[in-house]
Amino acid sequence: MYKDKFTNNNSKQTGEGIYSLIKELFPICRSITGNGVRQTLKIIGRHIPLEVYEVASGTEVFDWTVPKEWNIRDAWIKDGNGFKIIDFQKCNLHVVNYSAPIRAKMPLAELQAHLFSLPDHPEWIPYKTSYYKESWGFCLSHNQLRSLTEGDYEVCIDSTLVNGSLTYAECFIPGESQEEILISTHVCHPSLANDNLSGVCTAVFLAKQLAVQKLRFSYRILFIPGTIGAITWLNRNQASVGRIKHGLVLTGMGDRGGITYKKSRRSNADIDRAASHVLRQSADNYSIEDFNPYGYDERQYCSPGFDLPVGRFSRTPYGKYPEYHTSGDNLDFIRVESLSESFAALINILEVLEGNRFYTNLVPNCEPQLGKRGLYDRVGPNQIAMLWVLNLSDGHHSLLDIAERSDTSFKQIREAADSLHQAKLLG
Ligand code: ZN
Repeated sequence: MYKDKFTNNNSKQTGEGIYSLIKELFPICRSITGNGVRQTLKIIGRHIPLEVYEVASGTEVFDWTVPKEWNIRDAWIKDGNGFKIIDFQKCNLHVVNYSAPIRAKMPLAELQAHLFSLPDHPEWIPYKTSYYKESWGFCLSHNQLRSLTEGDYEVCIDSTLVNGSLTYAECFIPGESQEEILISTHVCHPSLANDNLSGVCTAVFLAKQLAVQKLRFSYRILFIPGTIGAITWLNRNQASVGRIKHGLVLTGMGDRGGITYKKSRRSNADIDRAASHVLRQSADNYSIEDFNPYGYDERQYCSPGFDLPVGRFSRTPYGKYPEYHTSGDNLDFIRVESLSESFAALINILEVLEGNRFYTNLVPNCEPQLGKRGLYDRVGPNQIAMLWVLNLSDGHHSLLDIAERSDTSFKQIREAADSLHQAKLLG
């Protein structure tokens, strides 16, 4: 089948913009709470209007509780000679995220219970968290772990884990309608590029582009810590989630793999159909996954009490690339080309949602004479698209239905409908 390329005039330039924002945010040590998220949101706020919210530790959100706030200034391990062998300032993945403070001297045997490495990828430092169980630890390359010698080590984690708040932000872009498209992305990971600065920064550039467009839907773009952030947001917005007509969770936009779309729990929501249609028409290498109750924040949006039409857009799914949650997921791992393509595909999906309408053929008895209206050229793709639109526009078939049934790109069907509407053949 002939594939249209994803259409977006300036997606290469946008891909470069996304990459440079990722680079700027990369060094910050983020977590599910704390100053790393605040600092990240402050930088994002220079690009798009953001409303930042703080929710106090201890707040009950459904079956969960907003945790204590974690902040870290420094961490290191020194060997017997006082030489720093692990230094948080060099790589923030070295500290198990949410580690409680500690200052102690201990022999290697005792320290080892707090050290984590990846024997299968001995060069990489793993990313580990301990959000809901108070503990401490360090992550290091397996090569370094193997090189440690017997003796006493001095460990220091200069962190605080105290009552504070959870921080998240919303960017709201009003459209003609109060009906909303939700875009959600997790902002809680430290120096990892694909998971998820790629999702965060793609959302920023989507917001920038949407802000200068005439929109039918309103857009709400969430920058939230994973899991607890989505649960907190849903808890605080229960009364208004009915406005959400379509939604996407964004993550992993920059790796070399093909695009993966994971369907919402509803499995045939418009967002599921729009994403599947766009990928089928334009992507060379893609996959569509059915819903499952594991993954990112779609788990919360698609929990049975909400069952929102929210799918997940990524490239290679989490856990299916070895760099996932390791220092291998760095600035060299992601590519401008992939970011550009992900961005263009997302714009194409949103264009389907924005442009999807039901029309009625105003001249339904036999085919209208297109020639006398200047619409008959020769039998080519545009002509066929017009015939499909005329034939199926009975008030019961949307333009997306017609695009799917005719196996024609939505863009072409939409253009045909626009011409027919102008010629007063559609109402
Ligand atoms: Zn992750």
